[in-house]
Amino acid sequence: EYRRGGYHAVRVGDSFNKGAYVVQSKLGWGHFSTVWLAWDTNHSRYVALKVQKSAQHYTEAAMDEIKILKQIADGDPDDSRCVVKLLDHFKHSGPNGNHVCMVFEFLGDNLLTLIKYTDYHGIPLPMVKEICRHVLVGLDYLHRVLAIIHTDLKPENILLVSTIDPSKNPRKSGVPLVLPATEADDPPPKAPAPSVNGGPTKSQKKKIRRKAKRAATATSEGSGAVASGDTDGSDDRGDLSTANEGSPNQDGDNKGDKGTRRGDVLFDPHSGDNFERDEDHLALMMELLGMMPRKIALGGRYSREFFNRYGDLRHIRRLRFWPLNKVLVDKYRFSERDSNDMADFLVPILDFVPGKRPVAAQLLQHPWLDAGPFHRQPKTLPDPTENSVDVVSEKQRFENQERDA
Ligand code: ATP
Repeated sequence: EYRRGGYHAVRVGDSFNKGAYVVQSKLGWGHFSTVWLAWDTNHSRYVALKVQKSAQHYTEAAMDEIKILKQIADGDPDDSRCVVKLLDHFKHSGPNGNHVCMVFEFLGDNLLTLIKYTDYHGIPLPMVKEICRHVLVGLDYLHRVLAIIHTDLKPENILLVSTIDPSKNPRKSGVPLVLPATEADDPPPKAPAPSVNGGPTKSQKKKIRRKAKRAATATSEGSGAVASGDTDGSDDRGDLSTANEGSPNQDGDNKGDKGTRRGDVLFDPHSGDNFERDEDHLALMMELLGMMPRKIALGGRYSREFFNRYGDLRHIRRLRFWPLNKVLVDKYRFSERDSNDMADFLVPILDFVPGKRPVAAQLLQHPWLDAGPFHRQPKTLPDPTENSVDVVSEKQRFENQERDA
């Protein structure tokens, strides 16, 4: 990737834009760029410097992105909309070509880093709600004010700031939430995660155990302040807030990387002897959400590959329905009340009929964001099964494992 048309090799101490920015350390990287913590010598502040790959295609994409990012920043002069701010941009020429560079306000670690940091044990429900709220504030702003659709919403694209007083504007009082470094911060960026109604595979479990050991060490060195997210030693609830990173890429994957409070993904489909992974994905969706309306099932370009004319899956015939509110009680040990409240918030978002899904503004009114929880510390979860059972029913898998335990 570090060749003509690709990334620019950046070293700590390098300066950009005639000495305006001096690189301090690496913050992250994506498909299109590397991102660096830099010192802004003109304004005496830290910034995030994003150095784009140099091929024409990336340059054009970056120029489009800059146009949109400018609109996003201009529409939010009081910095209250939970979107990252573009501060500057310029071109930098190097051995691999000309690289568009974008300068952003410096925000903290991304949400995936936080999820990994907890070893997929998840983050406290009040914090989940607060993160949801700030993401929705950002989305509502993009949708209603600017008519922009994000299309690449995922934990890596949600950057954290820690606030001292949550009653204040989170962005004004926020400082970047930077977690102590762990090996888990290194590539690959997409870590394996178990699914909501499935369990981790053997290799995932091995990795998780290895990381758990490392995290235990990190915690014993006094750096385990993640659960409350506090950087100032206070024990405030809700002292974490997010900035929804507004990078409106058009070609992001939309695989279901929707972390729940346990850091599990919502669906983790597998192929079986006589069915493909995509068919399993459809089956998992219907087991959680009920049958897909026939019109939707049969209205897609590839419908016939997966559904017969009645709207039933071709190869996976027996579905074991396990609605989200039951999953939360049975598997995640939520109280009935917490699980119903959360399902009431989440299930409409997942409606098979796009027009029926609530918009961000409606979700911001949902009582779940403010309520409870009434059962803050769910019991430790049972160990998920090691066997990857080649049948569709995740509920069955879970019940077997409960019985064996
Ligand atoms: P992709 O398109 O693959 O998601 P990208 O090349 O557009 O990636 P980003 O996702 O914007 O790059 O950034 C990569 C990583 O750099 C982020 O996940 C985050 O960890 C870090 N990062 C980006 N912007 C900032 C910022 N403003 N403050 C702190 N860290 C940042």
